[in-house]
Amino acid sequence: MKIVMAAAECAPFAKAGGLADVLGALPKELSRLGHEITVIIPKYSLIADKYVSEFVLKETMELFFKGQQKTFRVFEYEQAGVNYLFMEYDDYFKRDQIYGQSDDAERYAFFNRTVLEIVQQRSLEPDIIHVHDWHTAAILLLLKEDSRYESIKSAKAVLTIHNLQFQGKYSKKTFLENFEMDARYYDEGLVEWDGNFNSLKTGIFYADKVTTVSPTYRDEILTDFYGEKLNSFLQEKEQDLIGILNGIDLEVYNPAADLSIVREFDVMSMEGKQVNKRAIQLKAGLPERGDVPLLTMISRLSGQKGIDVLQEVLPDLLSNEDVQFVLLGSGEEQYETFFKELDIDFPGQVSINIGFDEAFAHLLYAGADIFLMPSHFEPCGLSQLISMRYGTVPVANKTGGLKDTVLEYDEDLKSGNGFLSDFSKDSSFDLALQRCLTFYQQSDHWEAIKKNGMKGDYSWSRSAAEYAELYESLI
Ligand code: ADP
Repeated sequence: MKIVMAAAECAPFAKAGGLADVLGALPKELSRLGHEITVIIPKYSLIADKYVSEFVLKETMELFFKGQQKTFRVFEYEQAGVNYLFMEYDDYFKRDQIYGQSDDAERYAFFNRTVLEIVQQRSLEPDIIHVHDWHTAAILLLLKEDSRYESIKSAKAVLTIHNLQFQGKYSKKTFLENFEMDARYYDEGLVEWDGNFNSLKTGIFYADKVTTVSPTYRDEILTDFYGEKLNSFLQEKEQDLIGILNGIDLEVYNPAADLSIVREFDVMSMEGKQVNKRAIQLKAGLPERGDVPLLTMISRLSGQKGIDVLQEVLPDLLSNEDVQFVLLGSGEEQYETFFKELDIDFPGQVSINIGFDEAFAHLLYAGADIFLMPSHFEPCGLSQLISMRYGTVPVANKTGGLKDTVLEYDEDLKSGNGFLSDFSKDSSFDLALQRCLTFYQQSDHWEAIKKNGMKGDYSWSRSAAEYAELYESLI
């Protein structure tokens, strides 16, 4: 099959979270299965020079957008059988950050148009156009309704929801300006939801199939609690809604061959993990001790991730228990402030690292003992999978993909790979963490938990086969 994917992020080029990891791994796996795959993303100025210097300029294209003729360029990069195309338009994408700009609606609407221009002008003739999250969801509106893209209309459309919370909601005026489509699309409710233009809803409406990144999240988003006010609409599409669990890129996240860590290790010989732990402690300015449980969290600091839960739990834990905590993350100011204060209150016990640092993240996954993930909702979650691959034990809330991948440890059977709270049942994160710390002190159990995690199958091959099956069912 010929597949075109479009997204706002793709590892290793431009990453803000798990969306990038998926785009970095799934296309490679589909290519391995014999499919022809092209990935189109914006050429952000933050893409590292080592990649950009390898990009090949292919075309200069023109587009009429918001009443003006605009010229953009298309660069190509080949890797692992995947054809990556980068759309360069500096006015929109020469920025320090991927998202969070006041003109995001306009930037991604422009990108949406360029994707279809590229597909059409390069005669890619895809069987499937697969878009991801709100940034590219409205491509499907243009694909199905804009007469300029007649020649590629027969392509089947797939949308993956990586996070329902972000929907790309804008005013009717913004919609009309950015998409230059008849007002009836809004007035008849094809692209409108709850009094706004809604990019994600538009994509859901026009998609032939909609996927989410775990089976549990697929069911959850049909409910009021997790549905982000789109659940009644999603229920109408229920027949076409499928949950396919994410994997991780086993080459990128490989404790036995990871250039970002200090000492490699695998499930047969785990000594290297301790060396990485000491390297973290040294870097973080914490006492270099092998016996103290080292807790970590690597995350966007947003409400979703349950930082409020840590606000409740961490001060007491750090006061009463001999533990260390290292945070790597950035996001909402209120949470950054909380962690900075924690750093001041618990010197020598806590290390707070505000920012995005891929290499340090790998070292933390490799050397920490326990990974905290008290998410209120989690579409799939990759951090718990990466942790388990490196023998770091997750303590997580039982929701979404966490429920599908983290299994509570059973001391009789020595089965399970982590510890779970269940906020929906008032089972607290604190208790799950206490259970975890109790087993930390019992080395035979601790070895079993770590190894159960490391032996799990987190590969993309199973999920990629499910996507391929889904595409096949459409054509
Ligand atoms: P989400 O996509 O909701 O942010 P996931 O768990 O699915 O959460 O994926 C998060 C990805 O982003 C993981 O690969 C994680 O290691 C990475 N990540 C998050 N924050 C940082 C950070 N500050 N520095 C480096 N990597 C980070």
